[in-house]
Amino acid sequence: MKKCRLPLYADFLITPFCNLECSFCSAAATKNKLSKIKVLTLDEIDNIFNQLDELEVLKISLEGGEPFCRDDIIEIMHLADKHDFNYYINTNGTLIDEKKQKKLVKQM
Ligand code: SF4
Repeated sequence: MKKCRLPLYADFLITPFCNLECSFCSAAATKNKLSKIKVLTLDEIDNIFNQLDELEVLKISLEGGEPFCRDDIIEIMHLADKHDFNYYINTNGTLIDEKKQKKLVKQM
């Protein structure tokens, strides 16, 4: 019997922050701890993408918090494209401006 190679999929929390404050969510709870939380740089994200690539992960979910809180979300999408990941963005949709819309449409 053929064995399934794992992992095929990874959840990647690219930011702990969110613009909303849902009472049940840990992302909202991070709001008062901003100065203590280190956010991954683009280089660090690229390095993690390299590691996921080496593991032959096929699909990733870019998550938070709210991924569009990051000013460099488009660059992160370009990095995911560079690694040829099949990915989606788990978003509340409230921070998607025209530039981001265009990039998202290009992904479809
Ligand atoms: S990450 Fe989602 S659930 Fe959490 S505060 Fe933001 S919108 Fe609400």
